Amino acid sequence: MTTASRVLVLNSGSSSVKYQLLDMADSTRLAVGLVERIGEEGSRLVHEPLTGPGAGGGKRERPGAIADHATALRAVAAELAADGLGLDSPELAAVGHRVVHGGTRFTQPAVIDDEVLAEIRNLIPLAPLHNPANVTGIEVARSLRPDIPQVAVFDTAFHSTMPEHVARYAIDAATAEKYAIRRYGFHGTSHAYVSRATAALLGRPVEDVNVIVLHLGNGASASAVRGGVCEETSMGLTPLEGLVMGTRSGDLDPAVVLHLARVGGFSVDEIDSLLNKKSGLLGLCGDNDMREVLRRAGEGEESARLAFAAYVHRLKKYIGAYSAVLGRVDAVAFTAGVGENAHQVREAAVDGLAELGLALDLEANAVRSSLPRLVSPDYARVAVAVVPTDEELEIATQAYALVTR
Ligand code: AMP
Repeated sequence: MTTASRVLVLNSGSSSVKYQLLDMADSTRLAVGLVERIGEEGSRLVHEPLTGPGAGGGKRERPGAIADHATALRAVAAELAADGLGLDSPELAAVGHRVVHGGTRFTQPAVIDDEVLAEIRNLIPLAPLHNPANVTGIEVARSLRPDIPQVAVFDTAFHSTMPEHVARYAIDAATAEKYAIRRYGFHGTSHAYVSRATAALLGRPVEDVNVIVLHLGNGASASAVRGGVCEETSMGLTPLEGLVMGTRSGDLDPAVVLHLARVGGFSVDEIDSLLNKKSGLLGLCGDNDMREVLRRAGEGEESARLAFAAYVHRLKKYIGAYSAVLGRVDAVAFTAGVGENAHQVREAAVDGLAELGLALDLEANAVRSSLPRLVSPDYARVAVAVVPTDEELEIATQAYALVTR
């Protein structure tokens, strides 16, 4: 008898679905892909089998109208079936869904039943852009395979261990309670994975290691993790707080919002759009991609230099703050698109922090690699690590652990 060990991981956005099929017997990837521009002009599916007869042939691109998430998932199922990896296989153990907001209710992954689904729906006001798409993905996957467990893995869950005095904003307690206003944090699967992988890289048990994780993608967040447990993270009620990001401002005086409304006559939606979509690197210099910012800054363009400096300054502030929060730091780990690839950002962020115990091996830091690695000299009190994140593997691991325990 075969033991079912495959997990399909689904990351459903409002107009896209990213997916990976993994075999948890050996944590290998069987197929990866994405459907984009669902319900829009120019929708397409890009699928890549990594095992079986189709493997090695690269990506298969399927342009064509994809009206909704149900059509998208059926198209994904057809591609997988063509590779002998059909979702009707008895080897499929579970579907793991990335769910952005779990509120205070979900501190662990959850097998999805009607009650759990209703709770995820109830959390839509806290994540109006993300949770509805997650719910749709769950409903469609459930209808395709009602007989296997669908597991929700929450972006917020890893941060649920933040102490109350860290999670609370210093505002009127009754108002905060009424509107569920507190810091939740996001990117939790990445922070969980990277903090554990950093301990492994140091060759020490995760319980003994304190890590500052810097997840620097288009969205960016920092976390202070003590012995594998999250103590603080930079994103808050929404993913807007904290670091300077591709298009989000990160921290600002909340009175900026009032000023824009009172003096500028901005509507709530206009301010939302300004701070989430037109700020950060994009707002400062017109480009949200760090590669472009670096290129332009290298050519001496003033606004790009300013954007880079603002980005790095905020990072330094968080490294300093989280050093104070943790008291003892064993490692600072850089991850995600910018953290894994932009050696200039790592160099500038660590520069001048010798008093905090940080140092960089400039040569090691400049080497490009897709492997987890240390980029600090042996003598450094605080190791600096580059650890590629793997949110899909983390979601599959958590989902599989839940359905097989
Ligand atoms: P992510 O959200 O983790 O996929 O990260 C996406 C971001 O990573 C992009 O917007 C780029 O700014 C950044 N990025 C990707 N590759 C590089 C690179 N080679 N150098 C600098 N930044 C990069």
